[in-house]
Amino acid sequence: MNNRPFDLAVVGAGLNGSLLALAAGGVGLRTALIDKAPLQSMVAAGFDGRTTAIANTSQRLFEALGLWADLAADAEPILDIRISDAGHDGKASPLFLHFDHREAAAEGETASPMGWIVENRFLRAALLRRLSACEHVELIAPDEAIETKRDTHRAEITLKNGRTLTTRVVASAEGRFGSMREGAGIGARTWSYNQTSIVLVARHEKPHRGVAQEKFLPGGPFAILPMRDSDAGEHRSSIVWTERADLAKRLLALDAERFQAEFGRRFGDFLGAVDTVGPRFSHPLGLVHADRYIDQRLVLVGDAAHGIHPIAGQGYNLGVRDIAALVEVLIDAKRLGLDIGAADTLERYARWRRADNFTMVAATDLLNRLFSNDIKPLRLLRDVGLASVNRVPSLRRFFVRHAMGRMGDLPRLIRGERP
Ligand SMILES: Cc1cc2nc3c(=O)[nH]c(=O)nc-3n(C[C@H](O)[C@H](O)[C@H](O)COP(=O)(O)OP(=O)(O)OC[C@H]3O[C@@H](n4cnc5c(N)ncnc54)[C@H](O)[C@@H]3O)c2cc1C
Repeated sequence: MNNRPFDLAVVGAGLNGSLLALAAGGVGLRTALIDKAPLQSMVAAGFDGRTTAIANTSQRLFEALGLWADLAADAEPILDIRISDAGHDGKASPLFLHFDHREAAAEGETASPMGWIVENRFLRAALLRRLSACEHVELIAPDEAIETKRDTHRAEITLKNGRTLTTRVVASAEGRFGSMREGAGIGARTWSYNQTSIVLVARHEKPHRGVAQEKFLPGGPFAILPMRDSDAGEHRSSIVWTERADLAKRLLALDAERFQAEFGRRFGDFLGAVDTVGPRFSHPLGLVHADRYIDQRLVLVGDAAHGIHPIAGQGYNLGVRDIAALVEVLIDAKRLGLDIGAADTLERYARWRRADNFTMVAATDLLNRLFSNDIKPLRLLRDVGLASVNRVPSLRRFFVRHAMGRMGDLPRLIRGERP
């Protein structure tokens, strides 16, 4: 430890903060990464039972950072996505929407998967392994940023243990409950969805063949995401089962047999016999979208800027695009010999990310409102809507390219290049 000033201090070592520190350190920015929790505790089995659908373009960034080499063996490709509406009985409507990854490939191009399902514990472990080996990153955990002073020349962060860090830029990657946003006077749209996602692993008789399924049930979406087979050769899927918060609480309290019966009814029998394995996790759902992403020498990244509904599996992918854009604007400024924390540099980041994030915030919110109910005329309308999109190849291609993250002005890291 020495008291040399940092280029960047990242507060929060979740999936976003860790990736930002790795990408910034990788281009030579002197970076501090701070978290309240011991970093090893975040890779322990049982800390985070979720999987993440890593979009095609996020995978390119992982590859550019050398991270993918640590993940590829544990990642399952998403080849197709099938979306259907279902009633209280869990039976899917005959009208559905099916996306095939081959549709997004240009003429003569080899089709690549729409994305990959990666267990969060593997992602966290790979990030920590790479961070520990990065000479430009100092890991400071467990500790907490309790006060931040920012002026036209620099920022200072006081940590709980009494140390003070000086830096050009502070990035809040504190997640949706972080305090720096409010501390900087940045307002946000926030609301609870009054829904909870139950997360668990299912074991089934037949292979999933790389197909991710999303069934829209009246309480919320029920996602069946293809996982790697277990070491014992069992076919597995990761489940994100969203219900009204009060019902989720009751479901989680059921004994194993009754829980299995409720689960099995919703899952259906299309993959043969199915049961759940391992612990059940739960995540209350809400939305946070900051009115601004920047303040003097401060940037908001990932869920600290935009925490969205997991309905489309895109929350982290937005964060990955934030990180790619932020690292690019910072390193461009540094190479020109400019102050990387100057307002115009940070504004370039905010302008770059606002529209993409806003579109996804609005789309996920709308989808959840439209589908998480059993109102008959609405159900008919959305079933016809799904089937109509399914009949138009150009529309299907548009949605597949969106899910892959291939739309808009992509930062260099997202194109798989070093910034
Ligand atoms: C059920 C579910 C399924 C999901 N599935 C997908 C998916 O398939 N694909 C996808 O793209 N996204 C998905 N997401 C979204 C994704 O998980 C989140 O976007 C992502 O995990 C947010 O990470 P983060 O690092 O921004 O925040 P967090 O994970 O909340 O991390 C914040 C960190 O900051 C630390 N911290 C906070 N304040 C301070 C402080 N003052 N000082 C020090 N440390 C501090 C905390 O200890 C914590 O470690 C899903 C979300 C849910 C709930």
